[in-house]
Amino acid sequence: MLDLPTTTPDPVNEPILSYAPGSPERAHLKSALASMALERPDVPHVVAGKESREGATYEVRAPHDHALVLATCHNGGALVAERAIAAALDAAPGWAATPFAERARVFMRAAELLAGPWRQILNAATMLGQSKTVVQAEVDAACEFIDFLRFNVAFASRLAEHQPISPNGFLNTLELRPLEGFVLAVTPFNFTAIAGNLPTACALLGNVVVWKPAENQSLAAYHTMRLFEAAGLPPGVINVVYGDGAVIAQTCLRHRALAGIHFTGSTKVFQSLWRGVGENIANYKSYPRLVGETGGKDFVFADPSAEVEALAVALVRGAYEFQGQKCSAASRAYIPRSLWPSVRDRVVAHIDAIAMGDVRDFRNLMGAVINERAWTRLNAWHERLKNDASVTMLADKGWSRDKGWFCGATLVEVSSPSHALLEEELFGPVLGVYVYDDGKPSGVDDVLSLIDHTSPYALTGAVFARDRKAVAVAVTRLRQAAGNLYINDKPTGAVVGQQPFGGGRASGTNDKAGSAYNLLRWASPRVVKETFVPPLAVGYPAMSAE
Ligand code: NAD
Repeated sequence: MLDLPTTTPDPVNEPILSYAPGSPERAHLKSALASMALERPDVPHVVAGKESREGATYEVRAPHDHALVLATCHNGGALVAERAIAAALDAAPGWAATPFAERARVFMRAAELLAGPWRQILNAATMLGQSKTVVQAEVDAACEFIDFLRFNVAFASRLAEHQPISPNGFLNTLELRPLEGFVLAVTPFNFTAIAGNLPTACALLGNVVVWKPAENQSLAAYHTMRLFEAAGLPPGVINVVYGDGAVIAQTCLRHRALAGIHFTGSTKVFQSLWRGVGENIANYKSYPRLVGETGGKDFVFADPSAEVEALAVALVRGAYEFQGQKCSAASRAYIPRSLWPSVRDRVVAHIDAIAMGDVRDFRNLMGAVINERAWTRLNAWHERLKNDASVTMLADKGWSRDKGWFCGATLVEVSSPSHALLEEELFGPVLGVYVYDDGKPSGVDDVLSLIDHTSPYALTGAVFARDRKAVAVAVTRLRQAAGNLYINDKPTGAVVGQQPFGGGRASGTNDKAGSAYNLLRWASPRVVKETFVPPLAVGYPAMSAE
């Protein structure tokens, strides 16, 4: 075992490759897409480094071409989950005793493999399995994932720098121990980077993990686990179990050694996990750490001084890229009446120019939504909005379920500021716009209150204004309305190390993935005081006779 200094290189963000015609990366990706569409792996659970295929099967299909079966997976259930917990706990002493510098090297190597030979494997899996366009896959499965791995190592290596003071005669040290037990990492379908980050952030700090990926992200999760193995992750440190989240989670929630939950997904599921911890609280060896990043109803506020073209582009990119399936997607916009006609016409023109279809055709800006359940739910919203006399449908072309689960970019003007469209997370390409009256003196003031109070979420938001005073007012008034606020930019696209990500209220515990704040949740500090010359008398000078 190497016991090396913990200094690690200062990371820089992974450059986004262009995939322009004629570029080498384009040729590599096209070839990976062609071969992966035919591979159809039988995806194994990996427990203690061993593959197994227990449980009823389910298929992973390409959302934009639902006849195309990409992989077969197995529903691990309680049995595999129990084995995964046991394997994690077996691996725990050895991994906790592994020096940080050596643990870090595993994830540094994973980052370099992903930046090089594995890049197009993860990109192709994410494009085919999750229907991301080349640009969306590159910023997620390649760049963000690489950044998480590199930046977490750098951030974690500096955590131990914060030491207590030691007056002469004493030495006080603070060490960061892993949590006692195992961490359950439950990951969402929509980001390959998040799926990779949740188990690795915990493992980097010396924890052992049971990882439950989303069913619809199983293809990329399969290749991610292979990447970790190729990087030298010891058996049992991360154990991946596929299948029904409720069953796997129940097994973990009931286990005495549950030390933490690292979750990203819907608010409803996170609340059910928290409830499960509450119900079992007397049984645990320690209080489990609960970290969850969940839903959003992310706003765009335009001041009357906003630049119209920048606003229109931000609305289109923010609302429709990856089919609106980002927790940070712009889904409600508040536009002043004075600007609305020109903003509306520009947004509609941009929507008309959007190409949607199979993501293997790089000209498409949009693919399909993740599965039939999502399409059916979104289509019910579409029908409801079409039949709602209180709203104006401004764009909604392209809804179809024949070849893939396609939901066209949809723009809706609502007249009621408390319309459900402005409150609930739809998680699809539907943008609701409320036009506020900037002709009256309290127009901006009123709409800022509305934005703050309309939805239970507080994840991301954007303020568009050229007037600096207006920016300052909005930033102050919306202080609790978003954990990530953007000025004159779309509310999506946080970059690791630049905009640590997470929100408050119903959007999560705001522990900021990809930052020291998050990593600290996976460590249990111990303070050791050493006294070099211990006292040899019980009494104190004040007790002496006069
Ligand atoms: P989801 O909640 O349906 O699923 C997330 C994970 O939980 C999956 O692995 C799923 O299998 C598992 N799961 C489902 N039911 C469960 C249960 N009863 N018990 C335990 N686990 C269960 O979410 P999703 O559809 O995969 O992702 C979309 C959601 O994630 C959206 O709400 C989005 O806003 C949110 N999200 C948030 C962030 C963020 O950083 N705030 C990032 C990405 C996604």
